[in-house]
Amino acid sequence: MIELWRVPLPGRRVARASFTVRSDGDFAITRPTPELEARRRSVLELPWAWARQVHGPAVAAIDDPATAGQVCGAEADALVTGATGIVVSVTVADCAPVALVSPEGVVAAVHAGWRGLSRGVLPAAVEAMRARGAVTIEAYLGPCIHPECYEFGADDLAGLVRTLGPGIRSLTGNGRPALDLPTAVAASLGRAGVVLVGAADVCTACGGERWFSHRARAESGRHALAVWMEPRS
Ligand SMILES: [Zn+2]
Repeated sequence: MIELWRVPLPGRRVARASFTVRSDGDFAITRPTPELEARRRSVLELPWAWARQVHGPAVAAIDDPATAGQVCGAEADALVTGATGIVVSVTVADCAPVALVSPEGVVAAVHAGWRGLSRGVLPAAVEAMRARGAVTIEAYLGPCIHPECYEFGADDLAGLVRTLGPGIRSLTGNGRPALDLPTAVAASLGRAGVVLVGAADVCTACGGERWFSHRARAESGRHALAVWMEPRS
Protein backbone atom coordinates (compact mmCIF):
# COMPACT_ATOMS: atom_id res chain seq x y z
CA MET A 1 0.00 0.00 0.00
CA ILE A 2 1.30 3.44 -0.87
CA GLU A 3 0.69 6.58 1.13
CA LEU A 4 -1.02 9.28 -0.93
CA TRP A 5 -1.63 12.06 1.52
CA ARG A 6 -1.17 13.01 5.17
CA VAL A 7 -2.85 16.06 6.67
CA PRO A 8 -2.18 17.19 10.27
CA LEU A 9 -5.43 18.24 11.94
CA PRO A 10 -6.11 20.34 15.01
CA GLY A 11 -6.48 18.40 18.26
CA ARG A 12 -3.38 16.25 17.72
CA ARG A 13 -4.97 14.19 14.97
CA VAL A 14 -3.85 13.38 11.46
CA ALA A 15 -5.91 12.49 8.38
CA ARG A 16 -4.36 9.91 6.07
CA ALA A 17 -5.09 8.47 2.63
CA SER A 18 -3.45 5.32 1.26
CA PHE A 19 -3.93 3.23 -1.87
CA THR A 20 -3.31 -0.46 -2.40
CA VAL A 21 -1.21 -1.76 -5.30
CA ARG A 22 -1.45 -5.05 -7.21
CA SER A 23 0.85 -6.89 -4.81
CA ASP A 24 -1.57 -6.14 -1.93
CA GLY A 25 -4.18 -8.24 -3.75
CA ASP A 26 -7.66 -7.76 -5.16
CA PHE A 27 -10.04 -5.66 -3.04
CA ALA A 28 -13.10 -6.08 -5.30
CA ILE A 29 -16.10 -6.72 -3.07
CA THR A 30 -17.10 -9.63 -5.27
CA ARG A 31 -14.53 -11.66 -3.33
CA PRO A 32 -15.60 -13.75 -0.32
CA THR A 33 -16.16 -11.51 2.71
CA PRO A 34 -13.80 -13.25 5.20
CA GLU A 35 -10.98 -13.23 2.66
CA LEU A 36 -11.54 -9.55 1.92
CA GLU A 37 -11.75 -8.62 5.57
CA ALA A 38 -8.44 -10.38 6.21
CA ARG A 39 -6.91 -8.59 3.22
CA ARG A 40 -8.09 -5.22 4.50
CA ARG A 41 -6.69 -5.86 7.96
CA SER A 42 -3.40 -7.07 6.50
CA VAL A 43 -2.72 -3.64 5.00
CA LEU A 44 -4.38 -1.52 7.68
CA GLU A 45 -5.32 -2.82 11.11
CA LEU A 46 -8.43 -0.72 11.72
CA PRO A 47 -12.15 -1.30 11.16
CA TRP A 48 -13.01 -0.66 7.49
CA ALA A 49 -16.29 0.70 6.12
CA TRP A 50 -17.13 -0.06 2.49
CA ALA A 51 -20.15 0.18 0.21
CA ARG A 52 -21.58 -1.48 -2.89
CA GLN A 53 -20.64 0.97 -5.63
CA VAL A 54 -23.29 1.76 -8.23
CA HIS A 55 -21.88 4.84 -10.06
CA GLY A 56 -24.43 7.08 -8.35
CA PRO A 57 -24.47 10.10 -6.02
CA ALA A 58 -25.46 8.29 -2.80
CA VAL A 59 -23.30 8.90 0.28
CA ALA A 60 -23.02 6.53 3.25
CA ALA A 61 -22.13 8.27 6.51
CA ILE A 62 -20.58 6.78 9.62
CA ASP A 63 -21.50 9.04 12.50
CA ASP A 64 -21.06 6.58 15.35
CA PRO A 65 -18.14 4.14 15.44
CA ALA A 66 -20.35 1.61 17.22
CA THR A 67 -22.63 1.36 14.19
CA ALA A 68 -19.95 1.66 11.47
CA GLY A 69 -20.65 -1.87 10.32
CA GLN A 70 -24.20 -0.97 9.38
CA VAL A 71 -23.15 1.03 6.33
CA CYS A 72 -21.04 -1.82 4.97
CA GLY A 73 -22.63 -3.19 1.84
CA ALA A 74 -25.08 -0.29 1.43
CA GLU A 75 -25.31 1.12 -2.10
CA ALA A 76 -23.14 4.24 -2.24
CA ASP A 77 -20.12 5.62 -4.06
CA ALA A 78 -18.96 7.92 -1.28
CA LEU A 79 -18.35 7.27 2.42
CA VAL A 80 -18.01 10.03 4.97
CA THR A 81 -17.02 10.00 8.63
CA GLY A 82 -16.19 12.38 11.44
CA ALA A 83 -15.01 9.51 13.64
CA THR A 84 -11.35 8.82 14.39
CA GLY A 85 -10.06 5.28 13.89
CA ILE A 86 -12.45 4.14 11.16
CA VAL A 87 -11.34 3.61 7.56
CA VAL A 88 -13.72 4.80 4.85
CA SER A 89 -12.88 3.02 1.60
CA VAL A 90 -13.80 2.68 -2.05
CA THR A 91 -12.47 0.35 -4.75
CA VAL A 92 -11.30 1.32 -8.23
CA ALA A 93 -9.39 0.25 -11.34
CA ASP A 94 -9.17 3.25 -13.70
CA CYS A 95 -12.02 5.22 -12.07
CA ALA A 96 -10.95 8.16 -9.91
CA PRO A 97 -10.33 7.52 -6.17
CA VAL A 98 -10.78 10.83 -4.36
CA ALA A 99 -9.85 11.51 -0.72
CA LEU A 100 -11.48 14.52 0.96
CA VAL A 101 -10.23 16.02 4.21
CA SER A 102 -11.51 18.87 6.35
CA PRO A 103 -9.51 20.32 9.27
CA GLU A 104 -12.80 20.36 11.15
CA GLY A 105 -12.30 16.62 11.43
CA VAL A 106 -14.37 15.09 8.63
CA VAL A 107 -12.99 12.82 5.90
CA ALA A 108 -14.41 11.02 2.88
CA ALA A 109 -13.49 8.45 0.24
CA VAL A 110 -15.20 8.77 -3.14
CA HIS A 111 -15.38 6.52 -6.21
CA ALA A 112 -15.71 8.91 -9.14
CA GLY A 113 -16.07 7.41 -12.59
CA TRP A 114 -17.57 9.44 -15.42
CA ARG A 115 -21.11 8.36 -14.53
CA GLY A 116 -20.66 9.30 -10.90
CA LEU A 117 -19.16 12.63 -11.92
CA SER A 118 -22.09 13.39 -14.21
CA ARG A 119 -24.52 12.42 -11.42
CA GLY A 120 -22.77 14.64 -8.90
CA VAL A 121 -21.11 12.19 -6.51
CA LEU A 122 -18.38 14.66 -5.54
CA PRO A 123 -20.71 17.59 -4.65
CA ALA A 124 -22.89 15.08 -2.77
CA ALA A 125 -19.91 13.96 -0.69
CA VAL A 126 -18.91 17.58 -0.04
CA GLU A 127 -22.45 18.41 1.07
CA ALA A 128 -22.46 15.44 3.46
CA MET A 129 -19.14 16.64 4.92
CA ARG A 130 -20.50 20.18 5.38
CA ALA A 131 -23.54 18.75 7.13
CA ARG A 132 -21.09 17.21 9.63
CA GLY A 133 -19.28 20.47 10.34
CA ALA A 134 -16.71 20.69 7.56
CA VAL A 135 -15.97 24.28 6.51
CA THR A 136 -12.72 24.06 4.56
CA ILE A 137 -12.33 20.93 2.43
CA GLU A 138 -9.35 19.83 0.34
CA ALA A 139 -9.02 16.86 -1.99
CA TYR A 140 -6.36 14.47 -3.27
CA LEU A 141 -6.74 12.25 -6.34
CA GLY A 142 -5.21 8.78 -6.40
CA PRO A 143 -4.08 6.73 -9.42
CA CYS A 144 -6.65 6.61 -12.24
CA ILE A 145 -6.81 6.42 -16.02
CA HIS A 146 -5.38 9.42 -17.86
CA PRO A 147 -6.59 10.93 -21.13
CA GLU A 148 -3.98 9.36 -23.41
CA CYS A 149 -5.60 5.98 -22.63
CA TYR A 150 -9.23 7.00 -22.20
CA GLU A 151 -10.99 7.14 -25.56
CA PHE A 152 -14.51 8.39 -25.03
CA GLY A 153 -17.75 8.51 -27.05
CA ALA A 154 -18.64 11.90 -28.51
CA ASP A 155 -22.18 11.99 -27.06
CA ASP A 156 -21.11 11.11 -23.52
CA LEU A 157 -18.25 13.59 -23.75
CA ALA A 158 -20.61 16.36 -24.87
CA GLY A 159 -22.87 15.60 -21.90
CA LEU A 160 -19.97 15.89 -19.48
CA VAL A 161 -18.78 19.13 -21.10
CA ARG A 162 -22.22 20.62 -20.37
CA THR A 163 -21.84 19.71 -16.70
CA LEU A 164 -18.11 20.27 -16.13
CA GLY A 165 -16.88 22.59 -18.88
CA PRO A 166 -14.80 22.23 -22.05
CA GLY A 167 -11.51 21.65 -20.20
CA ILE A 168 -12.37 17.98 -19.76
CA ARG A 169 -12.03 17.31 -23.51
CA SER A 170 -8.76 15.70 -24.49
CA LEU A 171 -7.21 13.31 -26.99
CA THR A 172 -5.83 9.81 -26.75
CA GLY A 173 -2.27 8.97 -27.73
CA ASN A 174 -3.50 8.28 -31.28
CA GLY A 175 -5.67 11.38 -31.56
CA ARG A 176 -9.13 10.01 -30.68
CA PRO A 177 -11.58 11.99 -28.49
CA ALA A 178 -10.79 11.36 -24.83
CA LEU A 179 -12.02 12.28 -21.37
CA ASP A 180 -9.51 13.98 -19.10
CA LEU A 181 -10.68 12.35 -15.88
CA PRO A 182 -8.29 14.20 -13.50
CA THR A 183 -9.45 17.54 -14.95
CA ALA A 184 -13.08 16.44 -14.65
CA VAL A 185 -12.52 15.61 -10.97
CA ALA A 186 -10.91 19.01 -10.37
CA ALA A 187 -13.76 20.77 -12.19
CA SER A 188 -16.48 18.99 -10.23
CA LEU A 189 -14.71 19.70 -6.94
CA GLY A 190 -14.11 23.33 -7.92
CA ARG A 191 -17.82 23.85 -8.49
CA ALA A 192 -18.41 22.56 -4.97
CA GLY A 193 -15.82 24.98 -3.53
CA VAL A 194 -13.14 22.34 -2.95
CA VAL A 195 -9.51 22.59 -4.09
CA LEU A 196 -7.75 19.54 -5.52
CA VAL A 197 -4.39 20.00 -3.83
CA GLY A 198 -2.60 17.04 -5.36
CA ALA A 199 -2.84 13.96 -7.55
CA ALA A 200 -0.88 10.77 -8.11
CA ASP A 201 1.01 11.31 -11.35
CA VAL A 202 0.37 7.89 -12.86
CA CYS A 203 -2.04 6.33 -15.34
CA THR A 204 -3.50 2.98 -14.28
CA ALA A 205 -3.81 1.88 -17.92
CA CYS A 206 -0.23 2.53 -19.10
CA GLY A 207 1.64 3.14 -15.85
CA GLY A 208 3.02 -0.35 -15.46
CA GLU A 209 2.48 -3.67 -13.68
CA ARG A 210 1.65 -2.16 -10.32
CA TRP A 211 -1.88 -1.18 -11.39
CA PHE A 212 -5.08 -2.99 -12.22
CA SER A 213 -6.81 -1.60 -15.32
CA HIS A 214 -10.37 -2.45 -16.31
CA ARG A 215 -10.10 -0.45 -19.51
CA ALA A 216 -6.67 -1.48 -20.82
CA ARG A 217 -6.55 -5.11 -19.72
CA ALA A 218 -10.17 -6.01 -18.79
CA GLU A 219 -8.94 -6.88 -15.30
CA SER A 220 -11.47 -7.60 -12.55
CA GLY A 221 -9.03 -6.74 -9.73
CA ARG A 222 -9.62 -3.55 -7.79
CA HIS A 223 -7.44 -1.24 -5.71
CA ALA A 224 -8.70 0.12 -2.40
CA LEU A 225 -8.52 3.77 -1.42
CA ALA A 226 -8.46 4.02 2.38
CA VAL A 227 -9.04 7.33 4.18
CA TRP A 228 -9.01 7.71 7.94
CA MET A 229 -8.11 9.84 10.95
CA GLU A 230 -5.83 8.71 13.75
CA PRO A 231 -4.20 10.29 16.82
CA ARG A 232 -0.99 12.11 16.00
CA SER A 233 2.00 10.58 17.75
ZN1 LIG B 1 -2.23 5.95 -19.89
